[in-house]
Amino acid sequence: MTPGPELQEALARASDWALRYFEDARAYPVLSQVEPGSIRQALPGAPPEEGEPLGALLDDFERLVLPGVTHWNHPRFFAYFGTSSSGPGVLAELLIAALNVNGMLWRTSPAATEVEEVASDWLRQAIGLPEDFSGVINDTASTSTLYALVAAREAAGLDARRGGVDGRRLRYYASAEAHSSVEKAGLVMGTGSAGCVRIPVDAQFRMRPGELAAAIARDRAAGFTPFAVVPTVGTTSTTSIDPVPEIAEIARREGLWLHVDAAYGGAAAILPSHRHVLAGCEQADSLVVNPHKWLFTPLDCSVLYCRREDVLRRAFSIVPDYLSNPEGDSVRNLMDYGTSLGRRFRGLKLWFVLRAFGLERARQVLAAHIEMAQRLKDWIEADPDFEVLAPVPFSTVVFRHRAGDEANRSIEEAVNGSGVALISHTSVGGAYVLRMAIGNLRTTEADVRAAWDAVRAAAAQLKVSSQTSSSNPTS
Ligand SMILES: *Cc1c(COP(=O)(O)O)cnc(C)c1O
Repeated sequence: MTPGPELQEALARASDWALRYFEDARAYPVLSQVEPGSIRQALPGAPPEEGEPLGALLDDFERLVLPGVTHWNHPRFFAYFGTSSSGPGVLAELLIAALNVNGMLWRTSPAATEVEEVASDWLRQAIGLPEDFSGVINDTASTSTLYALVAAREAAGLDARRGGVDGRRLRYYASAEAHSSVEKAGLVMGTGSAGCVRIPVDAQFRMRPGELAAAIARDRAAGFTPFAVVPTVGTTSTTSIDPVPEIAEIARREGLWLHVDAAYGGAAAILPSHRHVLAGCEQADSLVVNPHKWLFTPLDCSVLYCRREDVLRRAFSIVPDYLSNPEGDSVRNLMDYGTSLGRRFRGLKLWFVLRAFGLERARQVLAAHIEMAQRLKDWIEADPDFEVLAPVPFSTVVFRHRAGDEANRSIEEAVNGSGVALISHTSVGGAYVLRMAIGNLRTTEADVRAAWDAVRAAAAQLKVSSQTSSSNPTS
């Protein structure tokens, strides 16, 4: 298809749509209301023989696809982690797709490599990591953590790269609250999930350093080879912060690689008031932070910072003849820092976002999210039927109705079924509890209030129905 007036018209229509969407996303139910299979059923089962006009595609996008969308970019999306796309991010995505460069080697697009270097270095400065950390951008934190652990294994001097290893002899450590991706890395690396030793947490859901030291000693005595520790800054369930300074000291003493999972919490360090969340991280070997989570960059954009980039490269670099290049060591060839050869020009969107917002505006938005979370915490604490279950160091609040698991399940279902807001749940001390994470650029305090009102309305409904059923046992 040759570009021309049709494409021009379709692009204009799509950009109008996106602009309106940013303004009006509140008009949509947050959670898609469709039944399983209904989207598939509405679409033809086979591709067309004849190409179709772009206008028809956009019609079907609006008519058939949109009803099946859960609106992550909705200001009342409070489930999992609130995220946002943004104007500068969308603009960059358009240009990235148009260029379609593959930044596998420096020479296959010098700008893809160098803009990525600059953008990740800007973010490094903004969160206060030392200069000797260099960044590479991966798709997700799950990938970044896997790569960091493979580097850690390489650093352990086990001849893993050439000879392979019996993963069953290896051990790495994360808290009981660490993200599933940390354990999943073990499935890929052959340590199995048993290789990811879960360290108990304290009453505030933080890894207990004493337990870590004891587990390492136990494993060494039993003939295992410890090789890494993965503390979290902002755990997924309660956003707790592991005591990185103490853990770093143990890692140093034991000669273990220190990888910090700051996928969500790391962004908060752009605020002077929250710099301390990365305390101790200057001693890390690697750290991951996701601009696609809390820094207005469209999925996907995860920065892996590494202080021992040579080890990461040693773990992954294979240069076949058809990829050899005359630049040699004078440039970074990003294919050398992970398993994927091809890579998108993700640096452009991080660069656009950081430039268009500026740190000052980004700090304002994050500070407002943190402030809204404190408001929400106050409202919950003022209601005797509810309780807050964990400290709120970032913008996520974990709470429950005191009536128990069933009540909390019903409240979640009622709120989400209403379409007013989307909240999610987690488990704290074995209990089913509710969770609201504030992270969308357009979220206002009124949105948070609307979600909290929906929670209370669902709770009130619960009381009414339990009273009706107890006063009328035959119904
Ligand atoms: C979200 C999150 C992840 C996973 O991020 P992906 O980019 O989706 O892989 C890992 N760790 C923490 C702490 C997270 O919050």
